Amino acid sequence: MPFILPELPYAKNAFGDLISQETFDFHHGKHHNAYVVKANELIPQAGLEGASLSKAIKAAKEMGKTGLFNQVGQIWNHSFYWLCLSPEKQQPTGKLLDLIQRDFGSLDEMLAKFKAEAVGHFASGWAWLVLNNGKLEITSLHDADTPVAHDGMQPLLTLDVWEHAYYIDYRNARPDYVDSLLKNAINWEFVAQNLDGEGVSRADQSG
Ligand code: FE
Repeated sequence: MPFILPELPYAKNAFGDLISQETFDFHHGKHHNAYVVKANELIPQAGLEGASLSKAIKAAKEMGKTGLFNQVGQIWNHSFYWLCLSPEKQQPTGKLLDLIQRDFGSLDEMLAKFKAEAVGHFASGWAWLVLNNGKLEITSLHDADTPVAHDGMQPLLTLDVWEHAYYIDYRNARPDYVDSLLKNAINWEFVAQNLDGEGVSRADQSG
């Protein structure tokens, strides 16, 4: 079965000025969709029909098929990113907050570190909060690279720092985009769910 463009878990106008409907029209409707279309063209050439999305990512990496890896990586990364966002403002609580305080000192310090990673990441990519051997870590990956392809990176939270994620609403001001979303639009319930180590499966698709 071909991969599909997953539906957004909220209305495109749910975030007001934080993320405009126009951004969703382009980012989800054009960019994310294009990765799906292109991946479905390349999957048969790689002999990967029927592979799940996460399996296709790992196989494309092993086979050195960079073109396919980029498309399937971006399908998964974007699917996960949409789930990380919430139109209702939330705060981390419970076990997640405990771990944040244990590994970063405080929520503010964690957010400052995440912002620095996202803003400092050169060119296109993704900023990540991951679980590595039970410890929270902040890192970033270039272009379409994804925690799915890295052992020891259990994904908890991501922000897309490709220009297409923020240029309509924030122009070149990546720090404002990162700051606005971190303060107002993160689905901390989803982030906390991913502490079970099953984050990869939540944005996966069967092939
Ligand atoms: Fe994107």
